[in-house]
Amino acid sequence: MYHHIKKLMYTVRVDTPDPRFGNMLLEQFGGANGELAAAMQYSVQGLNCDDAERKDMLMDIGTEELSHLEIVGTLARMHLKPMKTARKAAEADPLIAIAGGGGVALCNSMGDAWTADYLKITGELDVDLRSNIAAEARAKIVYERLINFCDDPGTKDALQFLMTREITHMKAFTAALESMGKDRFAIGKIPPTPELVDQYFNDSTGANDEGDADARGPWNEGGDWEYGQAPAFQDLKSEKRGTRTTDSLTTLADAIGEANPVKSGRSPAGAAKHDETKHAKGKKEN
Ligand code: MN
Ligand code: MN
Repeated sequence: MYHHIKKLMYTVRVDTPDPRFGNMLLEQFGGANGELAAAMQYSVQGLNCDDAERKDMLMDIGTEELSHLEIVGTLARMHLKPMKTARKAAEADPLIAIAGGGGVALCNSMGDAWTADYLKITGELDVDLRSNIAAEARAKIVYERLINFCDDPGTKDALQFLMTREITHMKAFTAALESMGKDRFAIGKIPPTPELVDQYFNDSTGANDEGDADARGPWNEGGDWEYGQAPAFQDLKSEKRGTRTTDSLTTLADAIGEANPVKSGRSPAGAAKHDETKHAKGKKEN
């Protein structure tokens, strides 16, 4: 059951109200990475969770997020309140001032309504925990950006508290995931296709004017990695999954490159597309 206590989890103080900043704060009230989204995501995951210990954690953190929502809502309201009476402040956001009377609404900073589409709930505990770790990372960076754009010491103080708690949650979700003892890449029950799973496809090829070229690193070399050139340009030896070979380095890309060396940054593919458009236009006119 839920119970409300007339006391904020963290006391907020606003030294100088700033309606425009109050508007930015709404991103953490009714935005995609905001507190309502966090509260609903963890609480609903908790309802679906058959693991009693981790369910307890999901309900603990989901409930704390509701307390964060209350803090952000209170803080945003303090910043937005001048919109109710002062014309100059109202101009910062007519929607909030005229339709909302200078109050908070479950919208993001652009006035888009909160939606359950923000939530990531799969019903697979380890997959959900990964989503939660990512959600906390997003919430953290949003708070950091808000702090960087904030001049008000009292507001900064509350945002520092909220930002810190997101890292706390990230630590808890990470520890909960690790304690499940699953292999890092074992998701669900059906194993991935051997060999295919270790093939890295170099699907973005060539070099641009800034000198950016194909990069190699632990994401595509060493360990079990097999580095293969763009399969889109290869003759596939078999359509059966797992039998694609990567030994052919003569790609269509190389062939195109040799036939039409790029001179002015305009690729042959781009030129073809242009002609196609022209052709299509001509057709339409007839
Ligand atoms: Mn939070
Ligand atoms: Mn959190």
